[in-house]
Amino acid sequence: MNAGEFRRRGKEMVDFVADYLENVEQRPVYPDVEPGYLRSLIPTEAPLEPETYEEIMKDVERVIMPGITHWHSPYFYAYFPAASSYPAMLADMLCGAIGCIGFSWASSPACTELETVMLDWLGKMLQLPESFLAGTCGHGGGVIQGTASEATLMSLLAARCKAVRRVQSMDPEKSEPEILIKLVAYTSEQSHSSVERAGLIGGVTMKKIPTDSRTYAVTGELLKKIVEKDKEAGLIPFYFCATLGTTASCAFDDISQLGPICNEHNMWMHVDAAYAGSAFICPEFRPLLNGIEFADSFNLNPHKWLLVNFDCSAMWVKKRQDMIGAFKVEPLYLRHENQESGLVTDYRHWQIPLGRRFRSLKMWFVFRMYGLHGLQAHIRKQVCLAKEFESLVRADQRFEICADVIMGLVCFRLKGSNELNQNLLKRITKNREIHLVPCYLSGRFVLRFAICSRTTESRHIREAWRHMTQLTFELLQDSVQ
Ligand code: PLP
Repeated sequence: MNAGEFRRRGKEMVDFVADYLENVEQRPVYPDVEPGYLRSLIPTEAPLEPETYEEIMKDVERVIMPGITHWHSPYFYAYFPAASSYPAMLADMLCGAIGCIGFSWASSPACTELETVMLDWLGKMLQLPESFLAGTCGHGGGVIQGTASEATLMSLLAARCKAVRRVQSMDPEKSEPEILIKLVAYTSEQSHSSVERAGLIGGVTMKKIPTDSRTYAVTGELLKKIVEKDKEAGLIPFYFCATLGTTASCAFDDISQLGPICNEHNMWMHVDAAYAGSAFICPEFRPLLNGIEFADSFNLNPHKWLLVNFDCSAMWVKKRQDMIGAFKVEPLYLRHENQESGLVTDYRHWQIPLGRRFRSLKMWFVFRMYGLHGLQAHIRKQVCLAKEFESLVRADQRFEICADVIMGLVCFRLKGSNELNQNLLKRITKNREIHLVPCYLSGRFVLRFAICSRTTESRHIREAWRHMTQLTFELLQDSVQ
């Protein structure tokens, strides 16, 4: 493909993308295929000779689309949102064109510098304490990780390194393995599975703290009790991962209460706000972030709720040296003459891979084309839609709401057994008109209704509810027969 053909095909692709997104609600949101469906639709070997672009595009509809779960359909209510906006998609095209690999400042200075400034912009929108911002000479700063899972893992590894060094500074005879087996990390039983995985990958014990049975949040009292007991048993508590907006029910740990306990016990506090964190750009939600001044690191996913397409997970640390110091390896071929100046950031020290894309371009385009007010309007609209859905559920005596609706997620169920609710979800999934996923809350099978697509409107919510009540009617009829 030469530049001339690229121009033509590129314009066609933009039309294809806009058509797809404008009409996505007409497709069944959930695919009707069996595992392995795709292999039989394409050859078993790559072609020897070039094929035409038309042939490939024909196969997009024949091979790919039947196996797509349409995350951007306004009838998609599963998991949490995957953000999507046109400015972010355009920026991603540019990122592909520039195609730099920004592991060090010198490998593409704009890639590093824009990222640092974008994380400061977002940090200011969130009213993060100054200590998390890079500024021109700060000790903190932000980085774009691929996912919240990586952010949690990075924070745990940095905390682990810091704890080992601290113990060795007091007792230089202690070997690293002797210390590692005594380290204990903590998180809520409601936290995302990626936190448990971080413990497994980091080779440390991760204890899950039971949560309050109404709010699904960790209480300071219990954390304190468990930590003190572990210390008495000779263990070394070193890390706590709090969640603001849990995956199951969007519950909020009270970090203003938990933070001082972590600080008192020399434990790194990481705050995972993968989904809900974006809402803190709205003053009415910002109080939920109070206490962030006690944290060592904080993360949210603009790729969930801030209109920046996947992947873009924003992470801030209060002391960049904690992170850089933990992972620094400097082969000659990655060194550059400016790195000792103190003004440059080499992001390879802040993440697991070496290579990294120019992801801050997406933030820059989105922040400029929406402005803070546009982003706030997006969050508020989705919260409003969730409240509207909550009212529909509350008005139907057969259903109950299972957790406070604070943001864009509604947890609800039919009054009755888990089996009844499982059967309702089976019917919903089989029907493929809307898509949701369940969770367990206090042993009860609950349906999660998350407002996901940027294009979801009130009419979609009402239509989804009409559909669910119809399936409920049929289910209840069938179960009395
Ligand atoms: N943390 C929370 C609270 C989440 O809800 C999720 C995903 O939904 C994650 C972490 C994982 O996010 P990622 O896919 O960016 O690793």
